[in-house]
Amino acid sequence: MLMGQMMDQPLLISTILDFAARHYARSEIVSQRVEGDVHRYTFHDCRRRAMQLAQALQALGVSAGERVGTLAWNGYRHLEAYYAVSGSGAVLHTINPRLHPEQLAYICNHAEDQYLLFDFCFLPLIEAIAPHCRTVKGWILLGGPERMPAATTIPHLLCYEDLLDAQSGDYVWPVFDENAAATLCYTSGTTGNPKGVLYSHRSTVLHAYASALPNVLNVSSRDAVMPVVPMFHVNAWGLPYSVPLSGAKMVFPGPALDGKSVYELMEKERVTFSAGVPTVWLGLINYCVQNQLKFTSFRRTVIGGSACPPAMMNTLIDDFGVEVIHGWGMTEMSPLGTTGGLLSKHLALPKAEQRKILQKQGHAIYGVDMKIVDELGKELPWDGASSGSLLVKGPWIAASYFKGEGGDVLEDGWFPTGDVASIDPDGFMQITDRAKDVIKSGGEWIGTIDLENIAMAHPAVMQAACIGVSHPKWDERPLLVVVRKPGQDLSREQLLAHFDGKVAKWWLPDDVVFADALPVGGTGKVQKNKLREQYRDYQLPSA
Ligand code: AMP
Repeated sequence: MLMGQMMDQPLLISTILDFAARHYARSEIVSQRVEGDVHRYTFHDCRRRAMQLAQALQALGVSAGERVGTLAWNGYRHLEAYYAVSGSGAVLHTINPRLHPEQLAYICNHAEDQYLLFDFCFLPLIEAIAPHCRTVKGWILLGGPERMPAATTIPHLLCYEDLLDAQSGDYVWPVFDENAAATLCYTSGTTGNPKGVLYSHRSTVLHAYASALPNVLNVSSRDAVMPVVPMFHVNAWGLPYSVPLSGAKMVFPGPALDGKSVYELMEKERVTFSAGVPTVWLGLINYCVQNQLKFTSFRRTVIGGSACPPAMMNTLIDDFGVEVIHGWGMTEMSPLGTTGGLLSKHLALPKAEQRKILQKQGHAIYGVDMKIVDELGKELPWDGASSGSLLVKGPWIAASYFKGEGGDVLEDGWFPTGDVASIDPDGFMQITDRAKDVIKSGGEWIGTIDLENIAMAHPAVMQAACIGVSHPKWDERPLLVVVRKPGQDLSREQLLAHFDGKVAKWWLPDDVVFADALPVGGTGKVQKNKLREQYRDYQLPSA
């Protein structure tokens, strides 16, 4: 084999911040802080402070491979931790503060976190879990000395700004194997305990390169990017890496994720691009509609994490002029796998036809391969109709879970996603459902995403979820749980009539119940397992 003669430089996360700080030194990072004010500085400043933090962690004795946890909203100090922890060779473990305290302690113990950095608003939570976290040697409050509590039960409480002030920032990032672990995220664990996904420097850098591509997120130095998706939800979908390498401005919303706060920050900081789960956009759209507001800079958003309802996509595009990129992925995939978009041959199609393509979960990103298989594992054709279990592979897809949890997960080298999907001849993938959400009616499958999308296209519906409820004859039948828009009147019969002609008769929901709200999990997704539990004994009229 004749070897290439290029420089052999490992793909390390620290190189992203080095690049941004040197080549886009003055690009801004703006953060809505937990303190209530807005903080702004540059990539140059961020790097200096990240290095001070790396030194501080070294002084505390954190060594390569050890885990350092974070419990924090999106902000500049969290970004510093992203680079300082991974860059120094330790492993950044982002934790979702919306988890139950027992689950937080479980994750913290399982990861064996040595230190944990937290926003001061989580002090009561830390006081509750600290006695149960066996490996944490010190708790670092992300703030200045003025934020330190006068009295607390937390042992070894340290002040972030004091730790940084004690260091010179004269630090050289270590150079090591690009396959070394960099960050750790736990899956949401709707069934059983959450499992850890351990990303490497190499997988993170490759994912960052690929996700910035025009077919994917299309991030450039002319963008101002607001990651609404939390930095504890699969590393904010890689934006803390893909944005700095693109030189774009970053705008962090902190804890203020309601429609008004997001809108005002977007306008003030001239945000052009954002990313989040559908429930976040629901709040923002409602706020804008109620107050008759339009966006003056916001042009593009990626929506994923759960299916983007077509009604939401239409509103954003038609009423607000915001391009919607439908994205699909999972924690085990760093997370991006596919993104929506049109091919040039689609540009001449009527609008309604184009929308059908945009509503699919999209095209594979270079680096990800995918296939659909039947129950026997036989590959199914890409005809846009056959649907089967979706499997993926690629360099940023998990090969196993942290500490071997769950055993061998790969099937013949492919990762089973647990999603059911079809793929069309142009390579566009469409999710029918999560395998465990599919309704099995008389031996046939009913996909719930379709039914929810139809319900949410009704003007009086704010949110809808469809679940299978047991039925003596058909095994399971669909039940729609619906949240009406404020002040809207809508009966069961009116909503069911809205389904007429839109789906096969046997797909029609058997009943509709109206609720004040749907249960939403830590990452903003509707928790169908909770709904299934709530309506387990529900008596369908047809039963
Ligand atoms: P998580 O690892 O918690 O982010 O969950 C990943 C799962 O979310 C996927 O396996 C899908 O079931 C679901 N998901 C993510 N994005 C989408 C999407 N655009 N459409 C439908 N389901 C999605």
